[in-house]
Amino acid sequence: MKCPKCGSEKLKVTHTRKQDDGEETYIVRYRRCVECGSAFKTREQYSFAQPDEW
Ligand SMILES: [Zn+2]
Repeated sequence: MKCPKCGSEKLKVTHTRKQDDGEETYIVRYRRCVECGSAFKTREQYSFAQPDEW
């Protein structure tokens, strides 16, 4: 994971939040770049997969 602004890999996760909007669950991670100070977030989505989808 790199900073979208300056490309630095020195990122710090400031906090992690679980977000649930009914059918889907997301993990939202708030990050801050150590180099340029930009704050941004990434979202990871979990969804159930059926083995026959693979
Ligand atoms: Zn940066």
